Amino acid sequence: MAGLVPAIHVFSVAVLKTWMPDTTPGMAAAEARRTRNMMNVAERKQTNAPTEAQRWLASFESALQTNDVYAAAELFHADGLWRDVLAFTWTIQTMSGRAAIAATLRETLARTAPRNFHIPTKRTPPRWVTRAGTEAIEALFAFETAFGRGAGVVRLTPDSSGLRAWTIVTTLEELRGHEEAFRVRPEPDSTRDFGAENWSDRLSKARAYDDRDPTVIVVGGGQAGLSIAARLHQHGIDALIVDRHQRIGDNWRTRYHSLTLHNEVHVNHLPYLPFPPTFPVYIPKDKLANWFESYVEAMELKFWTGTELVAGRYDEKSKEWRVTLGRTDGSERVMRPRHLSSRPASAAFPIRPSCPGSIPSPAPKCIQATSKTRSHGKVARRLCSAAAPAAMTSRRSCWRTAPTSP
Ligand SMILES: Cc1cc2nc3c(=O)[nH]c(=O)nc-3n(C[C@H](O)[C@H](O)[C@H](O)COP(=O)(O)OP(=O)(O)OC[C@H]3O[C@@H](n4cnc5c(N)ncnc54)[C@H](O)[C@@H]3O)c2cc1C
Repeated sequence: MAGLVPAIHVFSVAVLKTWMPDTTPGMAAAEARRTRNMMNVAERKQTNAPTEAQRWLASFESALQTNDVYAAAELFHADGLWRDVLAFTWTIQTMSGRAAIAATLRETLARTAPRNFHIPTKRTPPRWVTRAGTEAIEALFAFETAFGRGAGVVRLTPDSSGLRAWTIVTTLEELRGHEEAFRVRPEPDSTRDFGAENWSDRLSKARAYDDRDPTVIVVGGGQAGLSIAARLHQHGIDALIVDRHQRIGDNWRTRYHSLTLHNEVHVNHLPYLPFPPTFPVYIPKDKLANWFESYVEAMELKFWTGTELVAGRYDEKSKEWRVTLGRTDGSERVMRPRHLSSRPASAAFPIRPSCPGSIPSPAPKCIQATSKTRSHGKVARRLCSAAAPAAMTSRRSCWRTAPTSP
């Protein structure tokens, strides 16, 4: 019996070898053809998406390589949109329509020398999706410029002559020569000197700024401020975040009670530390606020709460800012960072709408007006749940909601 097992094993390997299909390129192609023939129209369309996207990208690159900005613009629909985040324009800019796209390419191509457009193998491959009610091939791509590494997303929709770009986003991801390397972890704590500073002591000291000023002060600890500070920290640049709120995340906690994020979880990640896969698709505001606190701890960021930027002026001579920080205990601290990053976004300032008299009768008791966005919809629903009729107006029409019975 004992000798039988290896014999069976040898036999089965031999049989398998005999019956294993030969995977010559010809047979593989025939197999691919057979699989294709078995697909329905929708499946075939989905399977073709990567080839179609690759073809568009190749035409785009070829037009850029030959400086043919008109040919490049022709690859867009007449009302196509191109949003560039630093990669070509070194700013955040949206070009609308072929003429604007061609003009920006003409102005930036020589300087940026874009090349090596390709579809990264490790990312979601191009696929048909529905965006804003429109079916499009959505393709993530990567490229390089003279300055660094870029990434983009293009959405292609068909017209009578083929697929053209409906929207494209190009983003500079990394500067050449300043590639992001994770900071070397500090040496483990010495076990010989039990009185020496440990990790926690060093972090507290770094956060106190008793003996120095930071290189960068980041004003505002919302997602923009946290992202910038985290990136600077990884580059070894000493950055202090200041926020007038009493607790990290209060910029979200203090927003309206029923708020959940408007975008899906996967587009809201902070750098380095994505939200856990257990998070809901629309993160509730207080959960996000608490995540911000965890993020600051995990990334070892320096964050002063209850601290307001009261005044700041740049000194051309010393190439430094002179910044006055007011703290809730009434104290002030003057610091001289080399850079100031200001993130007080428009969403940080509450706006109380005045009720115009132009809403058609019967006049609602409460009005949250001006546009039909998710926020406005939610506020209108909230008013309804408080038994107050509400109206939402936009340029096109007026929506009314009636109080729901309890
Ligand atoms: C209802 C609602 C839903 C939203 N949903 C989403 C979403 O799903 N996804 C998304 O990406 N965006 C969403 N946004 C937009 C998002 O909130 C803002 O784009 C984002 O908060 C901007 O981040 P920020 O860090 O620039 O500014 P903020 O988060 O507004 O933070 C600015 C911070 O600066 C502080 N500050 C201001 N001035 C000073 C000063 N002088 N000194 C010290 N501190 C100061 C404020 O206290 C505040 O904490 C939503 C916005 C709202 C209102």
